[in-house]
Amino acid sequence: MKVAFPYMGTTVIYKKLLELLGNQVVTPPKPSQRTIDLGVKYSPEFACFPLKVITGSYIEAIEKGADTLVTSGGNGPCRAGFYEKVHRRILEEEGFDADFIVFNSPYLDWNNFIKNAKKIKGDTSVFKVVSSLKTVFYMIKKLDDLEKRVQKIRAYEVTKGQTTKVWEDIQSIFDKAYTKKEVQRAYIESMVLLDKIKTKEVKEDKRLRIGIVGEIYVVMEPTINIKMEEMLGNLGVEVERSQYLYDWVCYSTLSKMPLINKTHEKKIVELGEEYIPINIGGHARQSVGHIVDYHNRGFDGVIHLMPFGCLPELVTQSIIPKISNELDIPVLSLSLDEQTGVANTLTRVEAFVDLIKGKKRKKIS
Ligand code: SF4
Repeated sequence: MKVAFPYMGTTVIYKKLLELLGNQVVTPPKPSQRTIDLGVKYSPEFACFPLKVITGSYIEAIEKGADTLVTSGGNGPCRAGFYEKVHRRILEEEGFDADFIVFNSPYLDWNNFIKNAKKIKGDTSVFKVVSSLKTVFYMIKKLDDLEKRVQKIRAYEVTKGQTTKVWEDIQSIFDKAYTKKEVQRAYIESMVLLDKIKTKEVKEDKRLRIGIVGEIYVVMEPTINIKMEEMLGNLGVEVERSQYLYDWVCYSTLSKMPLINKTHEKKIVELGEEYIPINIGGHARQSVGHIVDYHNRGFDGVIHLMPFGCLPELVTQSIIPKISNELDIPVLSLSLDEQTGVANTLTRVEAFVDLIKGKKRKKIS
């Protein structure tokens, strides 16, 4: 079985888990213009943008030899739950041959979850599965910690682009780690690399902090959000995302155990419920909750990313003016699709950063 997965964020983690479970892994290429073009060509025009990019990504993975696509499912009133069916049909009709293994929440269908887990683990012993899960979980935590540091340091780096280069090196270092001890060593080596980056001294009251919220795929995958974190870092802004893999895994695992679930994400959902009382799918509630949370934590502004055609984030966008007014926090909403241009977006982001800088100056004086 040659397995691939949708390309999203720090893919080294998904690759590692599948490898440790004894699979031959085909990592799809980083989404590029070709990926988007393929996705747009074969997907329905009205589909949301992530579906199109993932279509292109699957085709590129199959071209590289993948025969099985491993992905997460979805439920609730958004289209994520139909992704697998739509992708399966597109690939079949266009003559791309691949099987799907779809992981839905075990709370929805425990038997199906176990059936899929057995397919993925093959002959791997239960002992090895447990130790692999522990190693990968530890790796997720360490990589998320490092990425949060990267998102701060980048704002003050002396040599433009150095932090991004170091972050790429860090992911390569982690790619070579297969045990908890090796992950520990990779973490220490990565911290040393980050410590070596020369940064400018900026006084605390001059630092700008922006939170990025929105639909998970466009928030986490830089190649389709026009490298928003880098763009902001280059403008001297510290960044934090609403979605990190570690938080998502913890929250998803404990979502049906309210007494044990003390995750930050749970608080975020509660904050979001005030504005969106019912589940409308996607991450709309979290997007709203995170805006409130960023305000409470003293962030200077928020950038809201929504894929074109995403209904939950359309609802978030309609609520943003109310939250922004009530909490006095500037929020810039950006819709992303295959037509989104870098120059146009950069101009809007620069204007937004100027606005929050001015606002901060006024507050201090
Ligand atoms: S959250 Fe939005 S972009 Fe994601 S699957 Fe649902 S509708 Fe599509």
